[in-house]
Formats: sequence, C-alpha cells, structure tokens
Amino acid sequence: MKMSRMGIGPIKQAPKDAETINHKLLVQAGFVRQLMAGVYTYLPFGLRVLRKIEKIVREEMDAIGGEEILMPMLHPAEIWKKTGGWDNIDVLFKLRSRTDRDYALGQSQEEVVTPTMKEFIQSYRDLPRMPYHIQWKFRDELRSKSGIMRGREFLMKDMYSFHLDQADFDRFYEIAKKAYLKIFARMGLTAKVTEASGGAFTEKVSYEFEVLTEAGEVNILYCEKCEFCVNVDDITSYKRGAQCPKCSEGQLQEAVAAEVGNVFDLGQKYAKAFEVKATLATGESIFPIMGCYGIGISRTMGVIVEKFHDDKGIIWPEGVAPYQVHLIDIRQTEKAQEIYDRLEAAGIEVLWDDRDINVGGKFTDADLIGCPWRVVVSEKSLAEGQVELKARKGEDTELLSVEKLLEKLKG
Ligand SMILES: [Zn+2]
Repeated sequence: MKMSRMGIGPIKQAPKDAETINHKLLVQAGFVRQLMAGVYTYLPFGLRVLRKIEKIVREEMDAIGGEEILMPMLHPAEIWKKTGGWDNIDVLFKLRSRTDRDYALGQSQEEVVTPTMKEFIQSYRDLPRMPYHIQWKFRDELRSKSGIMRGREFLMKDMYSFHLDQADFDRFYEIAKKAYLKIFARMGLTAKVTEASGGAFTEKVSYEFEVLTEAGEVNILYCEKCEFCVNVDDITSYKRGAQCPKCSEGQLQEAVAAEVGNVFDLGQKYAKAFEVKATLATGESIFPIMGCYGIGISRTMGVIVEKFHDDKGIIWPEGVAPYQVHLIDIRQTEKAQEIYDRLEAAGIEVLWDDRDINVGGKFTDADLIGCPWRVVVSEKSLAEGQVELKARKGEDTELLSVEKLLEKLKG
C-alpha cells in the first residue's frame, strides 16, 4: 500500500478524551475512531489487524472441528424470556419496534444456537458438535472508557459445543484450551488460565484466559514455575508470596491482567430450555451437555496495544501487524519503487511511505503505526547497493542487499 494513495492515516495529536493507551495510540496512528463511548469505527489499518486476529482464531477453531456459521445480532425477545436472560442480564440491550414488539441485541448466542442445533442433533451419533461464529456483540455498559478493550459493541468469536456427557465436555475442553493458548501465542501473547469455581462443591466451572497487563481489570495470583493461576477476586484463601499449592516449588506472584477469552460449562440448562435431546443406542434420550467458548477479537487488539508499545507508538507482533514492512525512501527514487515491487511480489505486506513530506515526519509515523520492520532507502545505502533494516522493537540498524532483505523477511 502506498501511503500517498491513502486518505486516512496517522494524525499529529493524540485525542484529548483518551483515558487509555490503546485508545490514544489507535486513534493517533489512524487505526480507529470513536463514534461514542465504547463504539468504534475501524479504519483501514485497524480493519487489517482485526482481520488478522480473526484469521488466526478461525484457523485454530477449524482445526479442532469447529463449523463456522453466522448468527444474527437482532433477536426476538421471546428466546431471551425463555431462558430468563431478558430479566436477569442487566447488560442486555433491549429495543422496541414501531409495532411494539420487543427485541434484544445479542450479547451471547446460546438462545440462538441451541434451537438452531436442535434440528441437527437427534441421536448420540450426532454428538459432539461445535458450531461457532465471529460476530458483533452488544453490552449495555454503564461506563465504557477503556478504548476498544471494553466496548458497548465489540467483535467476538463464540463457539458452542454439544456433548453426550460430562466426560466428553471435559475431553473437548482440554483440546479447546490448547487451541486457545496457541491462538494467543500466535498473536505474541502469553495467556494464563484461571479456573473460577468454588472447588468440588460448585457444579459448574468457568475458565478465563488472562494476559498480564496493567490496563487489565482482574487481579490474579500465578505460580512462577507452573501453570497454576487463580483470580484473586474469586479465591481469597491464596496469598502473594505463598508456596504454590500445585507444584510446591514456585511462589505465588500477584499481577493485574486482562481477560481475553473464556470457557463456560453450561451444563444442560439451554438444552433443557429448548428441548434439544439425543437418543441413545438403548432408546433412552438425554439432554446434551453444552460449553461456550469466547474470544474477544476487538478486545484482544486493544490488549495487544496495551502490552506492546513504547513512548513513540505501537509495536505490533508479526502475527497481527497491519503490514510487515514500513518502507521509507529518503528521496523519492526509482529504487524504492523497485524494492516495493519486489517485496510485494515475494508476498510480503508493505506499507510504503511515498508521501511528499519531510523525512522526520515519516520516521515519526513509522514508529507510531508500529509495523515490525522498517526498511529505509537512503543515498548512503544505495551507493553501496544496500538498504537499511531496523526492527521496530530494537535499536540496531542493519545494512543489507535487497536479496538478503527478502531472505530475512521471508524467513
Ligand atoms: Zn506451581
């Protein structure tokens, strides 16, 4: 992409109303615009990042047997009244039409997916099933000032699983957990898994995937040696500095974290509400056990910015960067065009700052936008038949030939 052709890009000043780093940097670098608190427009750079996150999530969901569908955002009130959500969920957005009918905007989709799957789940042979979708969700938040980390409207992946019994849910949960950890790792994030339950006396558990960041809203205790991690707000008997109850080797560390994913064991609640039954070989019929698996796509984008930035701007991990390379030519030359063409031909995503502005401004914008690699074509480097390469996250500049550059970026 040539920046001279873009009508939408970075701006000089950070927004005055921004209270969080992700809001400030994403607006200034030209990724999003806020329409109102918690509701955002995704500009070209922002949309590219959102699509990258979606792609990673989609690939890993498909890999564990997920079947992608697309469910509506607008729901009739009746399905929410059936499960009690209409009266019990305070963040449910409710609408009334001009014909005085009530509707809800989806904040989750159990009420839609369960009656949909009823037709396809008749016998034990039809289980397990794992439909999922990536769709905008709505929450009637009282306060929404965390940038895209807590939206009133947000993009989410939610998968729903239907199982013959608890053992099969537990089996699939382990598979989903590995897939989730892989998803976050592909985005450059290390997620910790907390189990929210009251122990053996609580029937249903939920699992939360947390990323350590000061911008988060959850206090956790985690073991420095093993995967033990608890939400401090739920389980108060553990203390910072105490010996890990799981491995007995590490000490418990306290940290602030942001939830990027969750898994809920839904039991038979929804299957019973919508009368989804599977017939066993014996002729007896059962209500399937259901699970719900969420990942906040737009929220994760905000968490990544909170996690990876410096005082100059965003530092995107390679897996989700809007472009891999930010190409800058000191003086507009044919050589820059040639390098741009060769990078594009090699399948490398390049943002070429070919605008007629001063070089200092180009460097400032490159740091702000945060592509992982910056390639500079200068007279000095050209005299030696080379270009300058610098990683956004490092300080060192390397001089290398275009052939070596291609090799390195493809590797
Ligand atoms: Zn431990």
